[in-house]
Amino acid sequence: MYDYDLLVVGSANADLVIGVERRPGAGETVLGSDLAVHPGGKGANQAVAAARLGARTALLARVGDDGNGRLLLDSQRAAGVDTAGVLVGGAPTGVALITVDPSGDNSIVVSPGANGKLTPEDVRAADALLRASRVVSAQLEIPLETVVEVVRRLPEGTRFVLNPSPPRELPDEVLAACDPLIVNEHEARIIVGGEPAGSPSPEDWARALLALGPRSVVVTLGAEGALVADAEGSARVPAVKVDAVDTTGAGDAFTAALAWRLGAGSAPAEAAAYAARVGAAAVTRAGAQVSFPTAEEVAAL
Ligand code: ATP
Repeated sequence: MYDYDLLVVGSANADLVIGVERRPGAGETVLGSDLAVHPGGKGANQAVAAARLGARTALLARVGDDGNGRLLLDSQRAAGVDTAGVLVGGAPTGVALITVDPSGDNSIVVSPGANGKLTPEDVRAADALLRASRVVSAQLEIPLETVVEVVRRLPEGTRFVLNPSPPRELPDEVLAACDPLIVNEHEARIIVGGEPAGSPSPEDWARALLALGPRSVVVTLGAEGALVADAEGSARVPAVKVDAVDTTGAGDAFTAALAWRLGAGSAPAEAAAYAARVGAAAVTRAGAQVSFPTAEEVAAL
């Protein structure tokens, strides 16, 4: 009865990457490698990750009427994402200017561009898309009021999943809609607005987050896996052991896979175990979207 397993509402950015021997200081110019341009942004990444796994996926986002916007639309379509909800124009496509040194440390400047112009009005106009989707997932690289509008217009029975990145304090109505709220420990600290006593464990963070009202919480722990928690209790989900090459986008792949499997009816721990396999597969290859596995690759891991 749903046309889409997952609707992602979020950002689409062109990642402009230059390798440098040393990242420049103030007032300094350094020479770098040839420019590489990759499709990115948390929303676009999540949509590609879900579609590559086989989920029927749509994206509600905004890109500029420019070459970077076309790059993003092309990468979505190549992965099988329905892009009818991708709006074009209003500002240049969002970009992330990334310099990376040989040790892998980077400096990033993000220009939100068209992502900042995805408005509550755009969400209202996408009502049919919301109603056609079993699960809706969002992040915070678009205006918070746009995410608030998604929550307000969520049809009865539609699951809402939020990865609050970049993190900020959230209104109660957004927190109450999350099932789950998916955070790493850094994001947890900012959303809780303080630290549980002692040296908090992931379980402590999950308890502190649940007290804010979400129906469930998932704390991602990188190479340590993840923790799923709700009012009934919590469970650790171990990571799959792999040789990590590049963790860029692992969180986006994990979130997309989790949202899809929860929508398909998997229990939280089972959905998170699958998502951990997807995240692990994503870290074995360089890049973000190009590193995301197909369902066959996840099965072969
Ligand atoms: P982001 O940096 O994109 O915000 P995140 O911090 O939210 O990501 P991570 O915890 O880095 O997300 O990764 C998400 C999931 O991917 C983890 O919970 C884990 O299951 C898997 N994963 C990440 N890194 C590794 C790794 N080195 N080995 C195995 N699995 C990994």
